[in-house]
Amino acid sequence: MVSIEEALKLINHQQVDLIPDELPLAQSLDCYLSDQIISPFDLPSFDNSAMDGYAVCGEQKSFEIIGEVAAGNTVDTRLKEGQAIRIFTGGKVPENTTAVIMQEKIEVEGKTLKLEDEPVKGKNIRKKGVEIAAGQVVFETGHRITPATIGVLSSLGFGTVSVYQQPSIHIIATGNELVEPGETKKIGQIYESNSQTLASALQNQGFYCGGRKIIEDDLEAITAGISDSLNQCDVLLISGGISVGDYDYVKQALEENGVQEVFYKIFQKPGKPLYFGRKENQFVFALPGNPASSLTCFYVYALPLLQRLSGGKGDGLMHVNIPISHSYEIEFDRPVFLKAKIENKNVTILDGQGSSMIHSMAQGNALVFVKGPIKLTEGDLVDCLLI
Ligand code: AMP
Ligand code: MG
Repeated sequence: MVSIEEALKLINHQQVDLIPDELPLAQSLDCYLSDQIISPFDLPSFDNSAMDGYAVCGEQKSFEIIGEVAAGNTVDTRLKEGQAIRIFTGGKVPENTTAVIMQEKIEVEGKTLKLEDEPVKGKNIRKKGVEIAAGQVVFETGHRITPATIGVLSSLGFGTVSVYQQPSIHIIATGNELVEPGETKKIGQIYESNSQTLASALQNQGFYCGGRKIIEDDLEAITAGISDSLNQCDVLLISGGISVGDYDYVKQALEENGVQEVFYKIFQKPGKPLYFGRKENQFVFALPGNPASSLTCFYVYALPLLQRLSGGKGDGLMHVNIPISHSYEIEFDRPVFLKAKIENKNVTILDGQGSSMIHSMAQGNALVFVKGPIKLTEGDLVDCLLI
């Protein structure tokens, strides 16, 4: 049995090999950059108007209107003292422009533009390079591609981007009692839920499950299923069969496949019977079968490794300290992850903390981490992992 800190250290110290790849920008969301991005040009690349209105040259209150510039207009125009031109947001500002005047602040009489106030130099002009300068480092290696990152890279004209390959991931759920949702179940059977929960958690965190199967509690079948997955994936997530019951064959099946244990069992609740192992460059998490334990262990232990395997730092879920909305006494001798809901700047510990209970996790949006027995009073700050 290891502590949470030891387990995380053992996971974070695993040597991982990263493989760079070139992807179309549209397929790169949630990947991590394998190279720095340097801006090929200034952004914006020309002075342009921040408003619909008139570009004027001079500091008087009356101008002669000489034409119009719409966004996308590629004709080079220049103004002389006393001239104005109709311009729209994003339009290239003519040479010699003093300012762009909002259309709400002007009056037009024939070809004459009249202003309420004198123009303020540079007003409503988005200067070339004001956001990003040519040659500037826009993103460092290891930056995670978010929708806004895609926006920046598109603006800079990138059609493809260099990223690290994502690990290929398989999921195996074990248990004689498990029936696929949608099929008919008999008394004593239950619907299998962990594999789809884990596949969704992967998707939610920017990963993809490349194979999912359900296997009965049979040493030979589990050994064969693991072998089949290890022929195809980098990371294998297994649920169930890792406790000490008579039908828990996963540990033995992993040994038979040459997977070496890194640790087994963590001093925590829920999720004590977690196994982590490695076979050359492949990793296996055997997660407890209880649904809340399985998902909690995925978030706390598997996610940081998946992030590192794709080129990230492996920070796992985001943590925040939030005041608790009520008093709460924790009597467990072990560190606990409690299902909780953050609402109105406070966090509330939910009912239904059992390892098998995932409904409370679905109602909530956080796990509160507490190290041991403690009496919490309203307003105490607690460590929340955002799920
Ligand atoms: P195990 O870790 O295999 O002993 O399973 C612990 C508990 O979790 C048992 O009540 C199982 O029925 C339940 N369980 C195991 N695997 C799953 C699964 N894939 N979906 C839903 N419940 C499961
Ligand atoms: Mg089982």
